[in-house]
Amino acid sequence: MAIYSYCLLWAGTFIGVELTAFEPNTPHLTFFAVVFAVNGLFYLLIRSGLSERFGDPSLTILQMAVGILLTTIILHYSRELRGAMLSIYFMVMTFGVFALDRRRMLLMAAFTLLCFTGLLIYEWINAPQQAIFSYLIGHWIILTLGLGWFIYMGGYIHNLQLRVREQRERLREAHDRLSAIAVRDDLTGLYNRRHFLERLEEEMSRANRESSPLHLAIIDLDHFKRVNDTYGHHAGDEVLHRFAQLAAMGLRKSDLLARYGGEEFVVLFPHTSSQACLAALERLRHSFSEQRYAFAGELSSAFSAGLTHYQPGESAEQFIKRADNALYEAKHLGRNRIQQAG
Ligand code: GH3
Ligand code: MG
Ligand code: MG
Repeated sequence: MAIYSYCLLWAGTFIGVELTAFEPNTPHLTFFAVVFAVNGLFYLLIRSGLSERFGDPSLTILQMAVGILLTTIILHYSRELRGAMLSIYFMVMTFGVFALDRRRMLLMAAFTLLCFTGLLIYEWINAPQQAIFSYLIGHWIILTLGLGWFIYMGGYIHNLQLRVREQRERLREAHDRLSAIAVRDDLTGLYNRRHFLERLEEEMSRANRESSPLHLAIIDLDHFKRVNDTYGHHAGDEVLHRFAQLAAMGLRKSDLLARYGGEEFVVLFPHTSSQACLAALERLRHSFSEQRYAFAGELSSAFSAGLTHYQPGESAEQFIKRADNALYEAKHLGRNRIQQAG
């Protein structure tokens, strides 16, 4: 965009010279070379990442300042075309509209006005006989009014951008919140079945890749229906919640604990030996059995679990099925125990 703007500036100058609406000695080729060198430098600064060290990595203010200076120089050579060429200043200001706040836009406008006023004074002093006072004043007033418009517009668009950015941020937060909710179970706060199954696939392919041990336990609370039937559904919920808390506290961060269904839970143990898994489950079984509840002092809660080791190459269904069979066996053998698949 900058290069295009400069080409326009150069084209205007070239045409101006050809139509004798510019000074015949206008150094437009030198000017073009300078423009390319300066923009090449900006390009390199930005592409190389060097500009990241500045407070304004897009170098907007610096690029605008250079643009304003170069425009002022070329304006010096304009004669009849000066009025039209003033619009180049506005083109430079447009770059600021999207990047600068109102204060900085005001600063750039002041700089533009300073450059142009300096040019007028310079010309007035050097060749007062050529200066037409009404033109000078006319151009100056039009430029000032135009710059005022840009300051207002710049501030307006800047605020609009801020609001869009804020809304995007809020949307992202909402999205993050929703994503977090989508993988959790409401009652216990543990991961839900869907998330567990997704992570299971990942852990299985990792175990395949790294030939590392992976264990799965399915836990089912014993005689849970009785808790509901005797003390009510709320009491049942409390037991589920208590179990989830205990398990979350007792297991490692790297273990994946999830609520698989009603009163069934699963734990995936990556990089863990069978003995360590068994020990962790036994600890959990013990602490769960020691829980006491306000609604029923005498209730002793227990669970049965089936534990199995992942066999490389098998599917998730086969893996889960083996753990489930071990759980069934644990129930069959009298509950309140952990059974390892053979
Ligand atoms: P077993 O030892 O053989 O596992 O017997 P059980 O009573 O635990 O098993 P069963 O499958 O017969 O009963 C499970 C009960 O869990 C039935 C269901 O109402 C209850 N349940 C499932 N989800 C929830 C829940 O979110 N809250 C409550 N309070 N109860 C639940
Ligand atoms: Mg069950
Ligand atoms: Mg049960």
